Amino acid sequence: ANTLRLGSATGHDRLLGGLLPDGMDERSCHSRYQSSMYRRNAGRPPSPYLVSKLRRHEALQRRCGPGTVAYMDAAEQLRSGKSHAGPGIGSPDCKYLVSISYRGLGNRILAAASAFLYAVLTDRVLLVDPSNEMDELFCEPFPDTTWILPADFPLTSYTNFSIDTAESYGNMLKSKVLDAASTTAQAQQLPAFAYVNLDHHLTDEDKMFFCDEDQRVLRDIRWLVMRTDSYIVPGLFLATGFQAELDLLFPELDTVFHHLGRYLFHPNNHVWGLVTRYHDAYLAAASQRVGIQVRVFGGQESPSVLEQITTCAQKGNLLPEVLAAGTEPSAPTPARKSKAVLVTSLKAWYYERIKSMYWERGTATGEAVGVHQPSHEEHQQFGAKSHDTKAWAEMYLLSLTDVLVTSGWSTFGYVAQGLGGLTPWVMYRPANTSHVPDPPCVRDMSMEPCFHTPPFYDCRTKQGADTGKIVPHVRHCEDVSWGLKLV
Ligand code: GDP
Repeated sequence: ANTLRLGSATGHDRLLGGLLPDGMDERSCHSRYQSSMYRRNAGRPPSPYLVSKLRRHEALQRRCGPGTVAYMDAAEQLRSGKSHAGPGIGSPDCKYLVSISYRGLGNRILAAASAFLYAVLTDRVLLVDPSNEMDELFCEPFPDTTWILPADFPLTSYTNFSIDTAESYGNMLKSKVLDAASTTAQAQQLPAFAYVNLDHHLTDEDKMFFCDEDQRVLRDIRWLVMRTDSYIVPGLFLATGFQAELDLLFPELDTVFHHLGRYLFHPNNHVWGLVTRYHDAYLAAASQRVGIQVRVFGGQESPSVLEQITTCAQKGNLLPEVLAAGTEPSAPTPARKSKAVLVTSLKAWYYERIKSMYWERGTATGEAVGVHQPSHEEHQQFGAKSHDTKAWAEMYLLSLTDVLVTSGWSTFGYVAQGLGGLTPWVMYRPANTSHVPDPPCVRDMSMEPCFHTPPFYDCRTKQGADTGKIVPHVRHCEDVSWGLKLV
């Protein structure tokens, strides 16, 4: 990919190359227009086509969103359970995609970003389920409207939709309510809504979502409710029907989440206070800022994970080696260069060890190394507000670093790398708590998140296939071998 970057030498580009709409209220959302001042890595410029598409999409969200006559009509039609139209009438003017919010914050952010891209590609209004603080952690992304699903949404039990829901697209294929292969697809009686089950627990029929024929059926269903805990975007690149539009939107394929994430997710003023105060106090003055994200799944503090982290960071020249025990630098001078290391983890132990290491021993390079960790929540919690607030602030702080080490498999790290425009060093997930993978980490192929549960099916040949080998820019991930990512 080319490495053209947004210019920032002569001042900050507060609109990120036109990605952000101008003129939104600044007091209610400081982060939107201030974020560029905090980024040394200004990031990649969006294509002019993406910029104009976003402005058109914002107009759609305003025209059809909550509070409009169009929305009330569509909600009424959904309440009545009727299809929007008889056979042959075609696509309704205002169509909707509801994105369910569940699991960790990283999952929720990747789900909303994926749903947004699908909404843009299919001209649907995106409405985000407010569950799990999704209505509080972020500013509104679209001017003069809301992306939050209204409380009086007619499908009252939508948050319970699951693999078993009869109205899921996959189950409607199974029960022959819908038939994607039918040449008379136009004449089918379409349901008032379909639930798109793209949870990690999904059936082969659910995965048909990624095929062109099925997209033609879904196109005319007015309401879709989607559940995913993953970054399904690489799957959308497998459907040929979206290809031409995606090429125009993203001439640099490895920047999809980078742009969508920076467009959609602005920390609210409280979170922005946490981000900026921490940044200014601990990170701003350093010559280089190194982010280390330590996600230990289900495990306790592990000396071998510590070894993995330090070996990875030193191998990648992100952190200096330390002098042998008992050795002092020949002529100590005030350090001219400093590194600030930002550690994020549920545990404090890794941070304490790394910090002690650089206090107790001198560095081979003479650099001063300061180590910082904003919080250590000990355990993952669900639905706890201050917990999510800290997680969001820490993801964002990681995205402000200059170089990044992440833990494989973690959507928390994916969000940070994408927002930051950083291709991370990704640590392999250890087989067990006493195992140090060799090599400990690898420089990732791109800053894009990995799609953990992709289909293994070629829609064109209608056969099982390795989807990491179908299109050139969709490859298997370094951290999750069967996952897919854009490179
Ligand atoms: P994933 O599970 O690593 O893919 O990331 P998620 O963000 O989806 O879920 C993990 C959740 O655990 C986060 O949303 C946080 O609530 C919590 N968590 C994990 N690591 C950290 C961390 O380093 N700092 C904080 N504050 N919370 C964390």
